Amino acid sequence: MRQTGRIRFASLGSGSKGNATLVSCGKTHVLIDCGFTMKEVTRRLQRLNLEPEQLSAVLVTHEHGDHIGGVGALVRRYKLPLYTTAGTRLTGRLNGEVPDWRSIHPEHPFAVGDLEIWPVTVPHDAREPVQFVLGDGQHRLGVLTDLGSITPHVVRHFSRCQALVLEANHDPQMLAVGPYPPSLKRRVGGDFGHLSNDQAADFLTQIETTKLTHLIASHLSEQNNCADLACQTLAAALNTTPDWITLANQEEGFGWREMQL
Ligand SMILES: [Zn+2]
Ligand SMILES: [Zn+2]
Repeated sequence: MRQTGRIRFASLGSGSKGNATLVSCGKTHVLIDCGFTMKEVTRRLQRLNLEPEQLSAVLVTHEHGDHIGGVGALVRRYKLPLYTTAGTRLTGRLNGEVPDWRSIHPEHPFAVGDLEIWPVTVPHDAREPVQFVLGDGQHRLGVLTDLGSITPHVVRHFSRCQALVLEANHDPQMLAVGPYPPSLKRRVGGDFGHLSNDQAADFLTQIETTKLTHLIASHLSEQNNCADLACQTLAAALNTTPDWITLANQEEGFGWREMQL
């Protein structure tokens, strides 16, 4: 059976203190976001048996610190192509020289090596944020975090994925009684903030999930959510058990998953 060419994916860590998702297909290795320092991202890549020089490209979804912390240093050191929207670039948050900066247009697919990539516009409080669907011609992986609400546009693009890395950021009641100041509660819970467990579950009832074989709950708030609650809520929407759902956490992310034929 052919082993190369299949999509594999993993996370280096997920949450408000730093995010990075790794997607591989054959010898193509794409890092989506990098909210970790060079030293830390190197350590976390090595945990997944990959060296930073093996990366093919870095994609950035938006300019928030938990997604761009280590991007500049990483692309400079290893001369990696960096893909962002023009809006993300114009914020100037990615400081320092970038040797090979490539602008992407939302809704215009592009390829990196063996991966075809569709950037999808999402409602989030950044300049021109996107999330990504990645495919190899047979499989589709959706990476969908950092959005405050579900739009018909998002439903259309993320339907029929075999794998989803999906934000389940907070439980609305925990957020309401939690330690955040009122302004931050409004931001997180608003239409341009982050998805609650219930919103993520509702999204799962709206998309076509007959081909879904991997679901990873991601970008959980350490203050305003708990893992069991997130998994239970998502599982109920799919009529499955919570242990079917994988959890991405801040320290470990999650290990390699492979798309099956
Ligand atoms: Zn984030
Ligand atoms: Zn964000």
